[in-house]
Amino acid sequence: MHHFFADPSCVEDGWIRIEGADAAHMGKVLRMRPGEGLLVSDGEGRDYLCQVEELEKEYARVRILEERQAGGELPTRIWLFQGLPKSDKMDLIVQKAVELGAFGVVPTATKNAVVKLDEKKGEAKVRRWQAIARSAAEQSKRSCIPRVLPPMSLEEAFALVRERQFGLCLIPYEEERGMDSMREALAAIGAGERPGPVNLQEAGGDIGVFIGPEGGFDPEEIRQAISQGIRPVSLGRRILRTETAGLAVLSLLMMKLEGAF
Ligand code: SAH
Repeated sequence: MHHFFADPSCVEDGWIRIEGADAAHMGKVLRMRPGEGLLVSDGEGRDYLCQVEELEKEYARVRILEERQAGGELPTRIWLFQGLPKSDKMDLIVQKAVELGAFGVVPTATKNAVVKLDEKKGEAKVRRWQAIARSAAEQSKRSCIPRVLPPMSLEEAFALVRERQFGLCLIPYEEERGMDSMREALAAIGAGERPGPVNLQEAGGDIGVFIGPEGGFDPEEIRQAISQGIRPVSLGRRILRTETAGLAVLSLLMMKLEGAF
């Protein structure tokens, strides 16, 4: 079944309006027809099973058949703090992070990152990444659209973690030896603790994952992270590329939060 997001203001009295590009996509690309079923999420945790009533060029009206509790969210918000990677790797990282259930992606400037984003370029990139997050969220039937925040420094990222009172933060570091710290961190996470989602105002208990850029973290950055209560962990005996490392951790967290182990 096709899946779309609609702003809560478009949901009214048993009907949902779908406007602009999404409506055009329904008609032109997906060739949907009146009577056809679809899933609409309001991005704030409500999912609606619907049926197309009216479909025009840039406007569709769909009837709500059934409201469902947000099915597409993990019980805990996960934020990926991604050291700025080269070229367009971030496109892939954002798309896959959304599929794996991340709630937010934070492009993070670290000491060894080759890429430096000025404000103007940064804004355009964030818009692009946010659009990728939206279509990945539709494709993977998430109930909310994960956020891509504007790039920030590692210090600002640490401050965000403090302000939002994250419950657990991991910083994969290739100099870390053994699996004890990873095992302990996973043991600290309960499966299915509370129903998702997830409103941005209600902070607390989030999980953060800090991944270094191609050049890795500077030992001083790791020391600072540890002083903030962030746990260094190993991802095994092989060096993973920056785009693989975050996705490996997200896969692990996703399965843990889904109750697989
Ligand atoms: N400093 C490295 C590689 C950096 S890999 C070098 O020699 O070039 C990019 C990031 O992925 C790292 O900063 C770390 O966060 C993560 N990472 C990759 N492999 C890892 C491993 N085996 N254990 C822990 N973290 C790893």
